[in-house]
Amino acid sequence: MALDRFGRNISYLRVSLTDKCNLRCVYCMPEDMIFRPNHELMQDDELFLLTRVFADLGFSKFRLTGGEPTIRQNIVGIVRHITHLPGVQDVGMTSNGLLLKELAQPLAEAGMKRINVSIDTLDPVRFRKITRWGNLDDVWAGIEAAERAGMTPIKLNAVVVRGFNDQDVTEFAKLTLKYPWQVRFIEMMPFGEVAAFAKDGIVTEAEIRQRIADEYAPLELQNDGKLDGEARIYKFDGAPGEVGFISSVTQPFCASCNRARLTADGVLRLCLLRDKEVDLLRPLRSGATEADIKQIILDGIWHKPWGHGLSRDIIPLTRVMSQIGG
Ligand code: SAM
Ligand code: SF4
Repeated sequence: MALDRFGRNISYLRVSLTDKCNLRCVYCMPEDMIFRPNHELMQDDELFLLTRVFADLGFSKFRLTGGEPTIRQNIVGIVRHITHLPGVQDVGMTSNGLLLKELAQPLAEAGMKRINVSIDTLDPVRFRKITRWGNLDDVWAGIEAAERAGMTPIKLNAVVVRGFNDQDVTEFAKLTLKYPWQVRFIEMMPFGEVAAFAKDGIVTEAEIRQRIADEYAPLELQNDGKLDGEARIYKFDGAPGEVGFISSVTQPFCASCNRARLTADGVLRLCLLRDKEVDLLRPLRSGATEADIKQIILDGIWHKPWGHGLSRDIIPLTRVMSQIGG
């Protein structure tokens, strides 16, 4: 079991499979983003060893992310490997959906239970602007393929950015009147080179809920406000779907955090919003044994920061989101 010094049992690993992406969302990376050369990233055998070590340490839930995880070579084989590790109960993925039309079925057959698809607006022109060149139809085709493949309930992630898609939140929430999906609004977080953009453009949960109430109807809080993962859940009266809010900036959920992250370059990132990291890949390549790696992980987790410092203007500077894995 991997415990931190505050008594939190850390059992959920988000694994970034690549820092590369087939989009360039404005809140995630600069347009001229420079990616790491492949040899600096975990190769399949290294990824398999490290994920097995995490599973041995009691990590039972994994989420594959990136960059865009579906562009990683051998993605189906990687999913099959991780879903079959002893002790692993739940493997999900966060994807921009562009390649899911072809990949959803093979991923489901490899054991992928669920998928979260990022789609920030239902307007094709604004979608292109926010992703810099994405085609909304491809994402829709991916969502439909994921649903056909049984990766349900489908969760859709929208980062709300003032001036880009804040006018779309009500239409987006109304998808839950028609579909049994969970539509989630994410407060934009500041990272590295895009930090100033994120700070200026953030739209808070309170503002989004007020806008939805003004433009359509109020959302009703579910489960007495108990979080589903990181999302606070609401519903429109009688709707089959749910509306979630991931409000890491204005309503942090650090006290119940059970997550750690493994970046594509093999670094253990202890908190999404803190720069404290522990390299695993370099020791592994220098001959560290599995027992050594386990100890490095346990020591790192023990020192997991309590929470983020955004309210005190402490902003993660070393990486943007695509280099961490959201
Ligand atoms: N490419 C995949 C995707 O977009 O779903 C997976 C990686 S992406 C970094 C993971 C999640 O982080 C996405 O839901 C994305 O919208 C979110 N994200 C990226 N940058 C963010 C930021 N600055 N603040 C909040 N969420 C962000
Ligand atoms: Fe790519 Fe996902 Fe970042 Fe968008 S949010 S640029 S899809 S990694």
